Formats: sequence, C-alpha cells, structure tokens
Amino acid sequence: MSSKHFTIIGGGIAGLSTAVALKQKGFQVSIFESAPEIKPLGAGLVLAANAIKAYKKLGLAEKIIERGRILPSFSILDQWGKVITQADAQGLSEKYGTHNFSIHRPALHQVLLEEIDPTCLHVNKAAVRVENIGDQVLVHFKDGSSHLSDYLIVADGIHSAIRRQLVPNSAPRYAGYTCWRAVIDTPGLAMNEATETWGSKGRIGIVPLADDRIYWFACVNGPVQDAKMSAWRSADLVKQFKGFHHPIPEILAHTPDEQLLWHDIIDLKPISKFAYGRILLIGDAAHATTPNMGQGACQAIEDAVILADELSAQDKVESAFLAFEKRRLPRTHFIVNGSWQMGKIAQLGNPILVRVRNSLFRMIPDRVNEKQMEKVLGVDF
Ligand SMILES: Cc1cc2nc3c(=O)[nH]c(=O)nc-3n(C[C@H](O)[C@H](O)[C@H](O)COP(=O)(O)OP(=O)(O)OC[C@H]3O[C@@H](n4cnc5c(N)ncnc54)[C@H](O)[C@@H]3O)c2cc1C
Repeated sequence: MSSKHFTIIGGGIAGLSTAVALKQKGFQVSIFESAPEIKPLGAGLVLAANAIKAYKKLGLAEKIIERGRILPSFSILDQWGKVITQADAQGLSEKYGTHNFSIHRPALHQVLLEEIDPTCLHVNKAAVRVENIGDQVLVHFKDGSSHLSDYLIVADGIHSAIRRQLVPNSAPRYAGYTCWRAVIDTPGLAMNEATETWGSKGRIGIVPLADDRIYWFACVNGPVQDAKMSAWRSADLVKQFKGFHHPIPEILAHTPDEQLLWHDIIDLKPISKFAYGRILLIGDAAHATTPNMGQGACQAIEDAVILADELSAQDKVESAFLAFEKRRLPRTHFIVNGSWQMGKIAQLGNPILVRVRNSLFRMIPDRVNEKQMEKVLGVDF
C-alpha cells in the first residue's frame, strides 16, 4: 500500500500532522495549500493531554513541549476573580500525561514543517473541486491547474470548498458570540496559570505562553459579522470589560491594536460521513467545533494518528477511510455538541442567570468533572 500517493488539501494543523503521520508509515504525500506560504494566524493554542499523547505516538511530543509551556492549573473565575471551578492540571497530568500545555501557533507549525520534505509542499493552490476519474481523484485548483492522485485527504478547514461540494448543505453555523484574540509581551506581569473569566458582559481567557508572552481571547455576544464590533479596538474592549478583575484591564490596555485578531465563533453542525470512497475529510473540514473545550486542534491531531493507524492495519485504503470514519464520528460529535452547549452556558448575559450558573458550577462534585475529563482526555490510540 505504501506506493499509493495521498494528496492533502490544506497545510493547517490537520494537514501537516497527517502528512507527518503518513510519511512515518511510508506513504507518499503531497500537500496543497491555498495561502502563499504555510503560516498560521499568530495566536496561541492550548493542547490538552489527548493531543500531546497523539504527538507522542508521532515522536514529536518532546520537540513540541520544548517550544511551549506547561501550565500548572486552569481556573474558571467570576468577573471579580473568585474561583467558579478549577482543574488541577498536575493531577490530570499524572493521570493522562502532559496536560494544559500552551504554544504559539507558529512554533507548532515550525516543528511540523521540520518533519516534512519541502518539495512535497505546494503553496498558492486553492482547491475548488474534485472529481473521480477511474481509480484516481482529480483536484482542480483556482489557478486552472489540476492534480491527479490515488487518494485525497481534505484538510482545508471549516470553510472547506471540497466538503461543500460533497455535502452541499454543510454550512458553518454562528454560535452567537464573536471573539478577539492577541498574543502580547507581558513585562511586569508574572503569570503562571491559565484562566477563563465568565462575566455577564463577556468571557475572557488568559493563557501564559513561553518567553514572557501571553495569549488572550475575549468573547462577547453579538450579531453575526457585526460591522460595529468589527471596528472595535483595544480601548473598546477595555470599556466592555470594565470592572473585571486584575490583570484583565491591564492586559487589554497593553494590547496594540495591530495585534488584535477578530473572528465570529462558528462551528460545523455534525455531519454523518467523513469517508467518500477515495476521499476523506479530516480536521475542521470534517468536524469544526467552537473553541469552548479547547479541542479543535486536539481532534485534528487525533485524526492524524488514527488515520495512519487504520492505513497500516487495513489492506484497502477505502476500508481504512471507513474504519477511520467509524472511530471518529462518535468522538468528534461528542466534542462538537459538548462544546456548543458549554458555549451557551459560558456566554450567559443575564446577570441573575450568571449568578445562578456560578453557584451551581461551584456545587458540581469533583467526580462529575472527573468523569467529563475522562471522556475527553482518556483517549486510547
Ligand atoms: C478563537 C479560537 C481559539 C481556538 N483555540 C483552540 C485551542 O486552544 N486548542 C485547540 O485544540 N483548538 C483550538 N481552536 C481550534 C483550532 O484552531 C482548529 O480546530 C484547528 O486549527 C483546525 O486545524 P485544520 O488544519 O483542520 O484547519 P485550519 O487551521 O483552518 O487549516 C486549514 C488550512 O487549509 C488552507 N485552505 C483553506 N482553503 C483551502 C483550499 N480551498 N485549498 C487549499 N488550502 C486551503 C488554509 O489556508 C489553512 O492553512 C481554536 C479556534 C478558534 C477559532
């Protein structure tokens, strides 16, 4: 089977991790990326134990951990800084392996790119359509060129052109809140733990990165693609989060406007098929989730390892694609649905409901939280 050629559409975390995993199993891969260079948006990323475990399978965990930061705990706070719930990352690490790890996205991409032969990478190639031709798949690109290969792995993200061709009714859905993100230097702010603060005017997460930088994100309820919100600058966010606990006002005020990234939060309503004969959807193209559980990239990384496993185990690639689908559908649906629900709870805007929610969350017994963690982190490859 190793003489078979796999074409991967998209050079994000899913595409690159899969290229590494397949190459390690002796498969030939070519990656086609629409951007002029393989470069992620410059925000941060939190990887949970399941993702690090997957990278361990690929022999990359140490290199990745070296370039990021392990965080001792994760807390959800109210807007006055009082703990609503807290996860003991130390305990979780002992149980599941390295947990609550943060990394600047370009650093993760760099590690993956170092594992890939640059001649396999083709940039400025936006896939627009696919067709089956005999025993092969032909991909057409926006520039008029095309590429023939044995099998196609579609990893071009939530707006995937190929998925829209295969599943025409699979449009991204807006979650009802919009998000600003930035990575900034933090002189004078000795931050150690990751936090998320839930208030009635919005939610803000702070994640320390390596090299004295932090990644923060802020989610505020609002209409889809709101023109006013799209024009918000750091000063508007300072106003929105006025009265929130230290160091939120300082961090927002310290953020240069040009560092701000703004996106509406969207996901993909679960679809029921990932495998289409010689074509397979993976990563956000298959199961994009809202970021509330911090699992989007983690699931894309799991995809890479599980696909490589199934390709080694099965004689026929089409059977491996179907076996992948069987293993991945229930798990990714659980994550997408759970994260959607969690977003609804985290983004409550009514101050009375916020107080009720916070009180209820404080009463949840540890064993209930642990059971949920087990379902997310206790992955067995
Ligand atoms: C605000 C926010 C915070 C998040 N935080 C976390 C987190 O902390 N932890 C976590 O695990 N996940 C997180 N995620 C989710 C995570 O970012 C995604 O799940 C992950 O990046 C998906 O990787 P991907 O490779 O499938 O897709 P993408 O990262 O979208 O990559 C797709 C690639 O395909 C390329 N492409 C697009 N169209 C075409 C085309 N037609 N032809 C060729 N190439 C194309 C793109 O340029 C891109 O390089 C977050 C998401 C958001 C929005």
